[in-house]
Amino acid sequence: MTAGLDAARAEYADLVDRGLSLDLTRGKPSPEQLDLSAPLLSLPGDRHTAADGTDCRNYGGLHGLRELREIFAGPLRVPVDQLVAAGNSSLGLMHDCLVYALLGGLPGATSRWVDQERIAFLCPVPGYDRHFALCERFDIDMVPVPMTDEGPDLDVVARLVADDPSVKGIWCVPKYSNPSGVSYSDRVVRGLGSVAAAAPDFRIFWDNAYAVHHLTDEQVEVADVLAACAEGGHPDRPFVFGSTSKITLAGAGVAFFGSSPANVAWLLGHAAKRTIGPDKVNQLRHALFLRDEAGVRAHMERHRALLRPKFDLVRRVLADRLGDTGLAEWTEPLGGYFVTLTVPDGCAREVVRRAAAAGIVLTPAGATHPRGDDPRDAVIRIAPTYPGLGELEQAITGLATCVRLVGYEKALATA
Ligand code: PMP
Repeated sequence: MTAGLDAARAEYADLVDRGLSLDLTRGKPSPEQLDLSAPLLSLPGDRHTAADGTDCRNYGGLHGLRELREIFAGPLRVPVDQLVAAGNSSLGLMHDCLVYALLGGLPGATSRWVDQERIAFLCPVPGYDRHFALCERFDIDMVPVPMTDEGPDLDVVARLVADDPSVKGIWCVPKYSNPSGVSYSDRVVRGLGSVAAAAPDFRIFWDNAYAVHHLTDEQVEVADVLAACAEGGHPDRPFVFGSTSKITLAGAGVAFFGSSPANVAWLLGHAAKRTIGPDKVNQLRHALFLRDEAGVRAHMERHRALLRPKFDLVRRVLADRLGDTGLAEWTEPLGGYFVTLTVPDGCAREVVRRAAAAGIVLTPAGATHPRGDDPRDAVIRIAPTYPGLGELEQAITGLATCVRLVGYEKALATA
């Protein structure tokens, strides 16, 4: 072990000397991925009329263009009439749903959330930091729920929602989850749809951000949450979210909301006060560019061709540099945008700190847990999509050096 530590120290000194400046913090598409959607910049050309005759330049059309909703109804597993196409950000829609539930109350609710003493959301961990940030913003308590390899632990969810009427929601990223890459099994989807909840207005925030973002031929399908909840006797339970942020342009895509007819009417009722209508010109150019569901799938193949080598590289470098050390485990996702690296307990923060000191900026350790508190201090989220292959190789190699350095230091200190 001392030899390992000596080698890691020498490598780390070299790394610092190289004066790198690399950023692995956020799951952003690379410029090459954005280039795949270049035609969007010149669409819709001189067209401005939708299939139903709507003049997309004008106000109105709160539900969103039908031809675009038709393209995404299949991938998001929401009937087209129950799917809303909105602005550019699904996170914005999640934010708005929380605000409307707080200030207006939900279908089936006995009171507005803001009038209740305590509101809590279940947070499968590791999870997405921006979900947790929304809870913090609105003083919603966060209750961590462990993830298994088929989704959140159902027994824990069932116990928490059955006992406590202040538990109003659960965050779910059902496919290629951020950051673990887990996809929910049919059993978990059915269970979430059927568990008895003390709160009549309990909602599943079903953030299907990676619905078509496959990295392998094994294209995972996740069960239909609207059907599962309807069969479980809770048709108003799920709020489905999605967007084209990682299909077309991350900053200029289209976001979707899907749910029961009652929830769609509820959302549109509130949205009508907020806006006179979405950006239908953007929706039209998306419909023209993507054409149909097959068009989306073909486009995602082009993303996959760019992304797959990056995920393969991460796997190869981690295996080469850490495979025989016993110091780390990592996920090998079948889709999505992230790899989760698990290091020995008590080491994640220090690994991230050492990497930053060597010019490699990672997502802060703890970001994968509510309030930034990973009780084991063991989880690091790697976002390999943005950098080029050369930079990525340097960054992951450097990260592996930091894991060895910190891991061996800690092992010796506790030996
Ligand atoms: N949900 C998840 C799980 C994500 O990973 C991201 C982007 N990192 C988003 C939502 C953001 O989506 P949008 O761009 O549609 O707001």
